[in-house]
Amino acid sequence: MPTPLEPLPFESEATEGDLALMARQLGRTMRGVHSIARRCACGAPAVVRTTPRLPDGSPFPTSLYLTLPSMVEACSRLEARGLLAEWTAELEGSEELKERYARAHERYLERRAELGNAEEIEGISAGGMPSRVKCLHAVVGQALAEGPGVNPFGDRALEMASVETTIDRCRCEVTPATLEEAEK
Ligand SMILES: [Zn+2]
Repeated sequence: MPTPLEPLPFESEATEGDLALMARQLGRTMRGVHSIARRCACGAPAVVRTTPRLPDGSPFPTSLYLTLPSMVEACSRLEARGLLAEWTAELEGSEELKERYARAHERYLERRAELGNAEEIEGISAGGMPSRVKCLHAVVGQALAEGPGVNPFGDRALEMASVETTIDRCRCEVTPATLEEAEK
């Protein structure tokens, strides 16, 4: 038996308020919510942890899902600069990066398996891991949930995004406080 992972460092329970807030962040209901893996400074969900299988039975590989609008936008802007192709090429040329990224992939699968298994997505993690960098939102989701040193491209994207936004500096249009106020 492999050693169990340390608990996710920032994980907390998902409340009704969190579900309402995520619906505002995403414009739709987030399904298969297990917990909140990381929060914005204001308390809003930033990364949601989902179950490997959604309530309707469909498998859902991206178990650490970035919802924080300012960070989602920052990742999209970085992707628009062509970083996905650039970093994939760099990955292909570096044994060290390949090793670290493969470990991030394994960690992703192990973490998800804590909540059960869906055979359709066995061995499939997220974001293009382990051979490509296909989605910064997914690798940043893992980096925010697990903390630094786990996903090399997630850490790097967070560092680059930090010129405009960080998890510690709230830029939310809707926060737990404003949502509560609006619902009074
Ligand atoms: Zn916030």
